[in-house]
Amino acid sequence: MIIIKHPSDLQNFVRSEKSKGQVIGFAPTMGALHEGHLQLVKTAAERSSAAICSIFVNPTQFNDPEDFRKYPQRLENDIYLLNKTSADILFIPSVNDIYPSGTGKLERFELGYLDSILEARFRPGHFQGVCQVMSRLLRLVNPDLLFMGSKDYQQCMVIKKLIADLGLPISLIACPTVREADGLAMSSRNLRLSAEERKIAPEIYKTLQYIRDEIKAGNLGALALKAKQRLEQKHFRVDYIAFADRDSLQLVEKWDGAQPLVALVAAFLNEVRLIDNLAVNA
Ligand code: AMP
Repeated sequence: MIIIKHPSDLQNFVRSEKSKGQVIGFAPTMGALHEGHLQLVKTAAERSSAAICSIFVNPTQFNDPEDFRKYPQRLENDIYLLNKTSADILFIPSVNDIYPSGTGKLERFELGYLDSILEARFRPGHFQGVCQVMSRLLRLVNPDLLFMGSKDYQQCMVIKKLIADLGLPISLIACPTVREADGLAMSSRNLRLSAEERKIAPEIYKTLQYIRDEIKAGNLGALALKAKQRLEQKHFRVDYIAFADRDSLQLVEKWDGAQPLVALVAAFLNEVRLIDNLAVNA
């Protein structure tokens, strides 16, 4: 694996590979890598001729400055882990490379409905920051295939829209959520859980499974409330438990029993905010 820091070196690499007809796969991350990230990179390597992983902790997507300050950084370990995958390139740009004119005055992206619900509602500005970094990374890396995790379900939908709106010839491949043995969705933020919190954290996935087992056609409000109470009993502070159409992410309160649904949860365990989702029907 080659480590590239300068955007121009990466662009030269991609240009040269593309001139040979190679397919470029890209898996962007914020580092503190875990098996979920490594699976994205492995899938990228299987499905492309050159797999690029990036590590960049994007300051503009943190609506909470404390969350940014405390975001785990483990570059040495990340390089060690990536060296064991078939990644061809690790791209580590600086904040200045990505935001040469600073982060003060940035463009706004018209995301419509997707920027008003769920994560967007509880983390104002988050998806604007995600689009600011991704529009730059995608133009810079210029991949054919983009690999992202379904754990961040709404983010995948936002990036699909961004790619379409920018008219970029990139296919997004949403990869399955990788979980710990007890069901907890892997996340860099799990590193911030205390031993006690880590024991409780899988309750989010258990609650999603409970929802999947209990869901019936009709009004979904009572089930969402039961699920919320279940989490609150374990001392979670719930931002939302919601049901949405799997393709449009339109929120669903009354279900016909057939529409493909995803249940989505965001909840805090003390200071750590965790998200997860599960398809609740076939
Ligand atoms: P992050 O470093 O958290 O920004 O995540 C980088 C990419 O890895 C995003 O596309 C995430 O959706 C994906 N990812 C994070 N956690 C997981 C997981 N547990 N399973 C699959 N993909 C994941």
